[in-house]
Amino acid sequence: MKNEKALVVFSGGQDSTTCLFWALENFKAVETVTFDYNQRHDLEIQVAKDIAKELGVTNRVLDMTLISQLSANALTRDDIDIEENEGELPSTFVEGRNHLFLSFAAVLAKQIGAKHIVTGVCETDFSGYPDCRDVFIKSLNVTLNLSMDDQFVIHTPLMWLDKKGAWKLADDLDALEFVRDKTLTCYNGVMSGGCGECPACKLRREGLEAYLKEEGVL
Ligand SMILES: [Zn+2]
Repeated sequence: MKNEKALVVFSGGQDSTTCLFWALENFKAVETVTFDYNQRHDLEIQVAKDIAKELGVTNRVLDMTLISQLSANALTRDDIDIEENEGELPSTFVEGRNHLFLSFAAVLAKQIGAKHIVTGVCETDFSGYPDCRDVFIKSLNVTLNLSMDDQFVIHTPLMWLDKKGAWKLADDLDALEFVRDKTLTCYNGVMSGGCGECPACKLRREGLEAYLKEEGVL
């Protein structure tokens, strides 16, 4: 894969930043695409831009604000609280988001001559999001190839990893400190370690602690 170009779907969070480092390790050329869908925090897009700049890769921001016209959810609407109740999809769920993002990414990939599309979706802690599942990604890959008569390959380096495994991958890529200090995962828009209270922060912290414990650092 070394001689080919990859497009990374990039939000500036832990997962997609780890995927960006993975892509830089595996492809000759790497570009990133970030989606503006009226996130709660404009900071997310700024963080993505800053990381791309620091790592010397092109970043394009695509306007996907129409998503907030289609569904009401806690990521795009300040008046909806972030909640996760047993047996229900979390209030941060955006119906079809990965499906739409990957489809737009593929059109862009074709334009920039990238055969490879890299995404941080993960089935392990997928919280019930159907378009994070491996079977969906494989199905979409076939559909995209048919729709554009091309041979894209969608890569999902995190698909079978839990949060601890995602930190290990970042560490294996010599990027643990970068990912820990420069990414934004928190639903409340707090950089790096985050607010510590929201579901995203808890998941991130528990994973990091489990990994550091395993490594004997904690
Ligand atoms: Zn948080």
